[in-house]
Parts: sequence; C-alpha cells; structure tokens
Amino acid sequence: MRKPVIAGNWKMYKSLGEAVETALALKPLVANANHCEVVIAPVFTAIKTVADRLEGSNIKVAGQDCSTEVEEGAHTGEVTASMLKDVGARYVIVGHSERRQIYCETDMSVSKKVKAALSDGLFVIMCVGESLEQREQGKAENVVAGQLNGGLNGLTAPDLDRIILAYEPVWAIGTGRTATPEQAQEMHAFIRRVFAERHSSGAADALRILYGGSVKPDNIAGLMSQPDIDGALVGGASLKADSFAQIVNYRS
Ligand code: PEP
Repeated sequence: MRKPVIAGNWKMYKSLGEAVETALALKPLVANANHCEVVIAPVFTAIKTVADRLEGSNIKVAGQDCSTEVEEGAHTGEVTASMLKDVGARYVIVGHSERRQIYCETDMSVSKKVKAALSDGLFVIMCVGESLEQREQGKAENVVAGQLNGGLNGLTAPDLDRIILAYEPVWAIGTGRTATPEQAQEMHAFIRRVFAERHSSGAADALRILYGGSVKPDNIAGLMSQPDIDGALVGGASLKADSFAQIVNYRS
C-alpha cells in the first residue's frame, strides 16, 4: 500500500511573514490527515522558520531545488541539499519544469541533484513532463522516458525508497487546464512500467507517482481515484491554506 503524498510548491511567492502565517493556518486544517504525507515547499529564506514553527506537526518542509554540488564551496547563489536538511527540510523538489525551461536545467543536472539530495538523506520529488507541442506530436512518452532515464541514472536499490516522481505535463501547470484523470493515469502507468524495467517490479510497486498541473479542490478526488496516482504536487492552489487543506483532505 503506497502512502499518498500531497505537496504544495509555493514557488517564488510569500514573504517570511506570509509563509509562516499560511503554514500556521494550514496546521490545524490538516492535523487529522493521516492518510497521506503533507509537504510544503516555501522559498529558501522561509524554510528554517516555517520548519521550526511546524515542528511536531504532520506537515513536512521541502526545498524547491538544491545544488548539484554536495560539498560547500565557491558556488555563488547555490544551496546544498545538506544545507536544506540543516534548516529543517526533509524533501526537495528537483527538475521542476520551470527550472528546466527558465534556468536550462538538463537531465544531467537533475541527475546530479537527485544524487546529492539522496546522499544527504532527503526525500526527492523529481518532476517529469512533456510540453504541449511534444504531446501533440505524439512524443509525450518518449520525452518522459528520457527524463526518467536521465534523472534516475546510476541509482541503486537502497536509493529508490526516497525517490518520489511527479508527472507534471507542462501544458497543465498554472494554466487551469488539468490532464483528465484518464490521461494522467495512462502516463503514470507508463512511468511505473519504465521504472519496473529500469529497476524491479517491487520497486515500481512501491514508487509514489504524484500528478501535478492545475490540481484544485474540485479535481483532486477524480485524480486520486486512479490506481497509479499516489498524490499531487500543487502549485497555485497550495498558496491558500484552505484550498490546500481541501486538497489534502480529499477523502473526507
Ligand atoms: C507546480 O508548480 O508544480 C504546479 C503543478 O502548479 P499549478 O498547480 O499551479 O499548475
């Protein structure tokens, strides 16, 4: 039985005060959500304070990215996975499509980040997903398989327990256009097959695959009813405590 993960990606939104306010508002609203892991990813500068204020709660904190470098050093603007862990993050999002598109993230850098994060004991949420053009050209599966093979390159069995994948079709992110539950299920089942071929059917059965792309309180239940959808990575609708809590509490 795979425990779902509902993760909120706050992107480059919220001052420190706003981040704390939202996190504290969320805390009681999801306090009884034992059916899933609840994760929020504030900006770097808010991680420490938010994690401290959530200590003892069932909400865990994630970084939105980390460096490819494991050791500290002369890398202006970078933050290592161990620095994220040091300030209270337990998860890190890697390979988000905004980083791939705007900051030229490649499968090779994603792979290095995945390894760096695993070596520091973080759970990794690695994002994959095709653009609209790639989908319309019938290339969606090839693109996603390439991202999986590139990003997961060189991982061995003990690492896999801390890998979570997020399928986020680029055409559905921040657009209000969600993949239908059937479209998402089809790609999630494909991802699980690719993972089984790369690793083992046992590892694939245990793998959590989140869907991301305009997830809202009114579409989460349909998505979660699919057998291969194990949670959600939520952008816009995670910014308000009440809408994110409704997504977390999709079963009640
Ligand atoms: C995201 O940023 O990962 C995302 C899925 O955003 P949204 O929910 O706003 O589409």
